[in-house]
Amino acid sequence: MARTSAVRPEEIRRHNLGLLLGEIHRRGELTRAELTTLLGLNRSTIGGLVSDLVSLGMVTEYVPAGRDRAGRPSYVVAPRPDGPYVLAVEIDVERIVSAAVGLGGTVHARRETPIEGDGRTPDAVTGQIACDADWIAGRLPASSVLIGVGVSVPGTVGRENGVIEHGPNLEWRGVPLADLLSARLGAQLDVQVGNDADLGALAEHLRGAAVGLDNVIFVNGSVGVGGGIIADGNQLRGVGGYAGEIGHIMLNPDGPPCHCGSNGCIETYIGEHALLRAAGIDRHGPEEVAGVFASAQQGDRRAVAAVHTVATWLGRTLATLVNVFNPQAIIVGGSLAEVLRLERATIEREIDARAMSASRSSVQVLTPGLGVESSLIGASELAFQSMLAAPDLFPVAIELAQSRV
Ligand SMILES: [Zn+2]
Repeated sequence: MARTSAVRPEEIRRHNLGLLLGEIHRRGELTRAELTTLLGLNRSTIGGLVSDLVSLGMVTEYVPAGRDRAGRPSYVVAPRPDGPYVLAVEIDVERIVSAAVGLGGTVHARRETPIEGDGRTPDAVTGQIACDADWIAGRLPASSVLIGVGVSVPGTVGRENGVIEHGPNLEWRGVPLADLLSARLGAQLDVQVGNDADLGALAEHLRGAAVGLDNVIFVNGSVGVGGGIIADGNQLRGVGGYAGEIGHIMLNPDGPPCHCGSNGCIETYIGEHALLRAAGIDRHGPEEVAGVFASAQQGDRRAVAAVHTVATWLGRTLATLVNVFNPQAIIVGGSLAEVLRLERATIEREIDARAMSASRSSVQVLTPGLGVESSLIGASELAFQSMLAAPDLFPVAIELAQSRV
């Protein structure tokens, strides 16, 4: 007789608990009847799963006020506002944003700290995050428990080990960020690190402009240019987690030198340095970039030309992505979102001219549904993943539930 791996009842239950909690997390509060339909399970099974999640301190149940008393009350299941939360962190070249995000994607507290010079070293950055984590914890109810940490970084990240292989604009190489943060925040905490564009794609797919779309590219362009790719509903990661480096597709071997060691990469044509250079501005910072966009809007000829040039190259880049990946949507985030707002016609024209017609007809170019928060929200989703996979096994949640008994 062939040996099969039997699935044990507790594994089925764990799987269903994760599915149910995942639905509440993504969609917000739902009635038991809606959960029954969504999961295709019977009412009593749903009732048992909800009770488990209530006792784990993750969700709460209530009967909405003002319902017809004659009818059977339909319980509403909602994320518990004082329940477990994750710390989502976005490390940027100029700032660190930290936020407490609860189940349902609600941001409960948020702190933004500018960084420059010495403040960009791994030691200084992890120290600042630990400080922000304390500040945030002090603003939450005592019953809220931190269950994990997700960090977005502008660089290539080994997803299995959380090591930043190369963060050019932070000047980081081989930084074991997950380990460094665990040492600062408490070794029992699960710390996950991801590339900012990958996390932007994840968040836009789950909660933003790409909900319901399974073939999506998120182009994140500011100082650097990165990409996150969702193909057939799954994140394209590559063997080491480094896939999606759209900014380093080579356009011209005789083009400007790039920090990656090559020449004429897309980043050197559409990154913020290229925009500022074209606008005749030597300094680089968020104010200077915002200044170019403001001047372009007011009709300043040099600024208009600079944005137009970047838009032209952006359109050509997107045409290549359309041909290679045949996506339903390309979401353009970071400061490139402003280029899209100002010069959409130029970008669309370039895609029309250069993408193959079959793929061109099915793609739309969008700005992020989550505004400038895509990568931060993506970091929170990364931190929630292990709890959503096995809510009953999550040690902090079990501890929390026992302390409430
Ligand atoms: Zn490059």
